[in-house]
Amino acid sequence: MAASGPAAAEGRDVDTGGDGFSARRVRMVEEGLRARGVSDERVLAAMATVPRERFVPADLTDVAYDDRPLPIGADQTISQPYVVALMLEAAEVRPGERVLEVGTGSGYAAAVLDELTDQVWTVERQAALAATALVTLRSTHHSGVHVRWGDGALGWAEAAPFDVIVVAAAGEQVPPRLVDQLADGGRLVMPVGRPDGPQELVVVRRSGPTTLEERLGPVQFVPMLPGLQDDGPVVDGAPDDPGSN
Ligand code: SAH
Repeated sequence: MAASGPAAAEGRDVDTGGDGFSARRVRMVEEGLRARGVSDERVLAAMATVPRERFVPADLTDVAYDDRPLPIGADQTISQPYVVALMLEAAEVRPGERVLEVGTGSGYAAAVLDELTDQVWTVERQAALAATALVTLRSTHHSGVHVRWGDGALGWAEAAPFDVIVVAAAGEQVPPRLVDQLADGGRLVMPVGRPDGPQELVVVRRSGPTTLEERLGPVQFVPMLPGLQDDGPVVDGAPDDPGSN
């Protein structure tokens, strides 16, 4: 694939094969994830595959593999690699399982999820981010991911139930509609807490009519934004009818 965009114009490597990024990606996985206790080989392999540099703004590709969140516009961030790994490890995604992500952001975590299963739906509240993520996902061979612009607290009813729901923005409680859309045996992973206060990563497991909650420890996420409207349907707003491919 030919390098393009501002980084290419400056002569830096932006391609995904045989370049400096591959080495950085391996280092991120070995030193930033495995050495810190992430042990799920499928998550490690997926994160060793997805070109994170493609999901950050062109002027930040040099720091794409630092273990920290980076700005992606619209006051939002791409989550730090370690936190993505923790969430996906806790979600225990198996091949073929149906996964909903709330908070597409750059599309990075959706791409990693797409490496774990080929059944991924992701909802983003901000139209500009949803549109950019869709383009990035398609150009990194993750075109099977369904992207929608809407309020993720409402889930994606037409595609439910989900075996896994991953929420990438913090809320004071788990949105009830998301629990409703969880399959029997399903897992929901979400940061719960106040935007400016302590937050904890929570896993909710559904077993028949009951749910079991487990707390995994402190995290810091951007807040979940209020819906476009309180009770309306999720709005398909990204280009090319992304829900249908
Ligand atoms: N998973 C992303 C990081 C997301 S940051 C990545 O890999 O890059 C959290 C995202 O959640 C932001 O993009 C924010 O706009 C989005 N968000 C916040 N509230 C939301 C809501 N109610 N519904 C859907 N997305 C929401």
